[in-house]
Amino acid sequence: MTGATEVGEVLERLVRDVPDFPEPGIVFKDITPLLADPAGLAAVVTALAAAGRDLTGAPVVDKVAGMEARGFILAAPVALSLGVGFVPVRKPGKLPGETHAISYALEYGEATLEVAHDAFAPGDRVLLIDDVLATGGTAVATADLVRRCGAEPVGLAVLMELGFLDGRAGLGEVPVTALSVA
Ligand code: AMP
Repeated sequence: MTGATEVGEVLERLVRDVPDFPEPGIVFKDITPLLADPAGLAAVVTALAAAGRDLTGAPVVDKVAGMEARGFILAAPVALSLGVGFVPVRKPGKLPGETHAISYALEYGEATLEVAHDAFAPGDRVLLIDDVLATGGTAVATADLVRRCGAEPVGLAVLMELGFLDGRAGLGEVPVTALSVA
């Protein structure tokens, strides 16, 4: 099992702060150095997947949902680690067939997310995965999409939480696991 200290050190070393990107005043958390480091990536995937396990290490979720685009990169290996399916939550117009869609405000700009209407079985327990929790708009929209499909968001796990934005406040009862807080 990967220790919290080790994961904290990995994120400190391999996530780059990029000031004023994509707009002035935003400090962008660039995870590309982390993605390029197999040991670091393995450590954070293990730590994120722990949010979908009970104290014995047994998986307690039926699906892992990742938000486009960086959420995909992390959520797919988390799903494999837990032995459950991965569901992509996508930007508009990318998914064929019937979808549910929700529009929401971002830390910068506005966005819409969609999910296939039959992505989840009724009652599925779903772990949400993304890289950064900022205002919480993306996570709240994803949790709502999961509920619209008749499934249950049982947790959100992220690499980094921008604590000063208090994004977790909007998630209500959905527990948030953040591997680091800025
Ligand atoms: P929010 O909906 O405000 O919680 O924003 C979270 C989403 O936007 C995540 O999918 C992140 O990938 C992205 N995001 C927001 N703020 C940042 C940031 N400062 N650095 C990197 N990604 C961010």
